[in-house]
Amino acid sequence: MKIICVGRNYINHAKELSNPVPTEPVLFMKPSTALLINKRPFFYPGFSKNIHHELELVIQINHNGKAIQPEFAHKYYDKIGLGIDFTARDIQDKCKEKSLPWEIAKAFDYSAVLGDLIPLSDLKNRDAIEFELKKNGERVQLGNSRDMIFNFNQIICYASQFFKLLKGDLIYTGTPAGVGPVVSGDTLEGYLEGTSILYVNVK
Ligand code: ZN
Repeated sequence: MKIICVGRNYINHAKELSNPVPTEPVLFMKPSTALLINKRPFFYPGFSKNIHHELELVIQINHNGKAIQPEFAHKYYDKIGLGIDFTARDIQDKCKEKSLPWEIAKAFDYSAVLGDLIPLSDLKNRDAIEFELKKNGERVQLGNSRDMIFNFNQIICYASQFFKLLKGDLIYTGTPAGVGPVVSGDTLEGYLEGTSILYVNVK
């Protein structure tokens, strides 16, 4: 199982980090060892002093596919949920400065929190999926799938040109604005269309 992530997929987030708005999806990956599930706590790693939360819509691939054509992309996923793409922003900034890859800032152990996955058919509004992150009970991120620069199908087509998609793979589809630091003691709770489906405690 692999985790494919999309960077800079919301204009308001690209702007908040002073990044250009991309013309093609920006992809990076996390290994399976990055997954943090079952509401387990996130232990703040010693190598960073600026871990940021990025709340993202996550889709799960339901069968294998390579070079998937646009008209078939919708057949390759049927579950959706929320994830947090924990990012060591201090390390990422250093990597960017030196034009180095981001892996150590993005793909470290337990950096991919995953909440419950629900059938896509259970969504109230598939064309405008609203999601929200509360930190210690206060809203810090509010996103809507209609604001994605590249939608799920476009991401699947693009990514599958390079990487064969396998059943069970996860795609983290990018974060809206409002990313920010976490500290030990914080609780993060993610809501999909108003329903809490993700919870993580920072230790
Ligand atoms: Zn992200």
